[in-house]
Amino acid sequence: MISERAYIGLGSNLADPEEQLRSAVQSLKQLPLSSLTGVSSFYVSDSLLPGQPRYTNAVAALDTSLEPVQLLDALQAIENGQGRERLERWGPRTLDLDILLFGDRLIDELRLKVPHYQMQLRPFVLYPLAELAPDALQLADGRYLHEMLADCPFIGLERL
Ligand code: ATP
Ligand code: CA
Ligand code: CA
Repeated sequence: MISERAYIGLGSNLADPEEQLRSAVQSLKQLPLSSLTGVSSFYVSDSLLPGQPRYTNAVAALDTSLEPVQLLDALQAIENGQGRERLERWGPRTLDLDILLFGDRLIDELRLKVPHYQMQLRPFVLYPLAELAPDALQLADGRYLHEMLADCPFIGLERL
């Protein structure tokens, strides 16, 4: 069966974030038609919005034969299973799972945009991703991971 490598960003800033991420990793291992091939270190950083608890973030690599929207459905089910409430945009959350990359696909649908639209601005995404993906990784839109890293200094991040 053909599978593609997806990279998933994990984040939490409520209800024991490290435990939330560990629990999410266990759920990712159970996804159908998929195999979890790597999990980065965990990183802590201040919230981009003031007044929220600090975030813990990581990235996971998943080889999957699911279609991207099926993967999004499964990730949202995991978020909901861990008590994710959607009260306000960018509000604090028990668990956030974003599809950062999906093979070499460019996706621009209402529910799903890949590569993730802000990954290049987020050190808590790029540095854990760089633990798993080769520097030479080229995104579907032509950018290289090493260029994005060079433009996004390792500032404000604490690697656990
Ligand atoms: P941000 O997208 O800036 O990281 P967020 O993760 O807090 O913010 P959510 O409230 O979790 O945003 O998601 C809002 C919607 O974004 C989801 O319902 C989903 O349909 C859509 N979405 C678009 N592209 C993606 C993607 N690559 N991964 C996950 N969700 C996505
Ligand atoms: Ca997010
Ligand atoms: Ca999200």
